Amino acid sequence: MNEYIKLLQKQDKLNISIDKNKTFNWKYTKIAGPCSVEGPDIVDIAKNIKDLGANAFRAGAYKPCTYPILKETNGWKEGLREKGLRLLKLVKEETGMPIITEIMDASMIDRVSDVADVFQVGTRNFQNYTLLDALGKTKVPVLLKRGTWGTIDEILGACERILVGGNENIAICLRGVVGMPSYRHVFPSIRWAPDLMMIPALKELTNIPIIYDPSHSTGYRNFVKPISKAAIAAGADGLIIECHPTPDKSISDAAQAIDYNTLGEIFN
Ligand code: PEP
Ligand code: MN
Repeated sequence: MNEYIKLLQKQDKLNISIDKNKTFNWKYTKIAGPCSVEGPDIVDIAKNIKDLGANAFRAGAYKPCTYPILKETNGWKEGLREKGLRLLKLVKEETGMPIITEIMDASMIDRVSDVADVFQVGTRNFQNYTLLDALGKTKVPVLLKRGTWGTIDEILGACERILVGGNENIAICLRGVVGMPSYRHVFPSIRWAPDLMMIPALKELTNIPIIYDPSHSTGYRNFVKPISKAAIAAGADGLIIECHPTPDKSISDAAQAIDYNTLGEIFN
């Protein structure tokens, strides 16, 4: 084991008890929602998803895409942005569910925390140190998604960056990593390799809750249920799953979106 990990292990701060969490209980979290807020029907979608057992709602108002100009449609341009936040506020009022949504930049802290109970840091910002330092100075819980390239040191280092700022309310989200070329000819939507072994590896080093994302890590809806089970079997504390009433029509990440039925099966 390298010397940095040994140091991290000795730090009490990394041994955060899930029970100490006052504002958001990560244990057994069932987070779901469509990839992004697509319109006013988000309120009905959230009600349905709550009925299926979700205890937190996640949808992106800001939705950084790999290509910025591919998917402009009806005011949706890498998300509905401010309008998306307003709709998420309605979801919160109507369902009472905690809201998780992506923050891309420190300048967005006030705007997003007005709606969000939890900031999601997306893969692309996993090592955005100015953002992580700024989130460390807030008290808002952070769901930090692993960069598709992130080593175990980089995961722990990114967490430490938020922790040393004073914000201990964090969870790590594993969402798949680079390297699945052998699947691509048959399953073209598969972009990432599930990173299941990182669950027990991190559990050995830290008590930071681990949330598993079987949607991005598989990229293909038929694999979401089996990989959800595998993640829980491997010790994940919770799941974050993309679900849409008409999965094929999702503006973003359609191939991995599951329908209500499948979500219900997984959550039960
Ligand atoms: C998402 O959660 O919808 C998302 C874009 O995830 P990631 O940042 O892991 O790619
Ligand atoms: Mn997505």
